[in-house]
Amino acid sequence: MLRRTLPVALAFAVVLAGLVHFRDDLRELVGTAPGSGRSAPAVHRLYEMSGPVGGRCADLPGDLDADGEAALRALAGCLDRMWEAALGRAGLDYEPPSEMRLVGTPEEAACGIDDFDWSGIYCSGERVVNVLVERGGEERETFPMMFTLAHEYAHHVQQITGIADQSGPQVFDEAWSRRLELQADCLAAATLRDVHPYLLNDLRRSAAAQSDAVEEQAAAYRDSHGSGASSARWMLRGQKEGTMASCNTWKAPAEEVS
Ligand SMILES: [Zn+2]
Repeated sequence: MLRRTLPVALAFAVVLAGLVHFRDDLRELVGTAPGSGRSAPAVHRLYEMSGPVGGRCADLPGDLDADGEAALRALAGCLDRMWEAALGRAGLDYEPPSEMRLVGTPEEAACGIDDFDWSGIYCSGERVVNVLVERGGEERETFPMMFTLAHEYAHHVQQITGIADQSGPQVFDEAWSRRLELQADCLAAATLRDVHPYLLNDLRRSAAAQSDAVEEQAAAYRDSHGSGASSARWMLRGQKEGTMASCNTWKAPAEEVS
C-alpha cells in the first residue's frame, strides 16, 4: 500500500511545490497579477476610446477663495459634463454621483467607515462624494479642495465603469489600493489640467516635496495611497496627456505604484 501511495504523494508534492513556486507566473499568465497588462482594469475599453477627459470650466468664480463652496459646486457640474463626454465616446452611460456633500468633519460623511483621516471620501455603496471643507477649525484653501473633489469623482468613475470592481480574480491588497488611488490622482489632474494649470502645478510640486514621514499613520497612508513622489508622478502624467490611457496604473510596473 505504502509503495503505491508514496509515488503518488510524491508526485502530488512536486506539483504543489511547483504551483507555489510558479504562482506569480501563473497569475501573470491568467492576467490576475497586480500590474498585469491583461488584468480586467488594465484593458478596459475606456483607455482606448474615451480620448482626452479634461476641458475648461467656465462656470467657476474668478476668485476661487471668495466662495469655496460655490467653486466646488460649479466644478462638480463641469466634472459631470467632462466625464459624461469621455464615457460617451467609449459608448458608456454616465451617471453623476447621487450627492456631493461638503462636510465640516469626517464623521458627517455618509459612508459609515471607521477611518476619519481623509480630506475627501467616496462612498461607493451610496455613490456619495464627500469633501472636507475645514481642517482644525479653519476653512481649507479652495484649489486643494477642488483637487479632492476631482479625485473623488475619479473614484466614482472607477466605480461605475467597473474598474474598481472587486468581484474578479485579482488580489485586493495594498498594492491594488495604491493603483486605484494613484489612478484617481492622475485622473484628477487630467480633469483639472485646463481648469487651473498653474494651481495644479503648485499642488503637484507640494505633493512631490511631501516628506514621507515615518509616523505610523503616514506609513499606513503611504501603503494604501502611494508615496508623495508617486502621486506627483502620476499627476504629471494626467496633466501632460489628459487621457485615461495615460492614467493606466493597472499595467504599470510595481516600482511606479509604490
Ligand atoms: Zn482616494
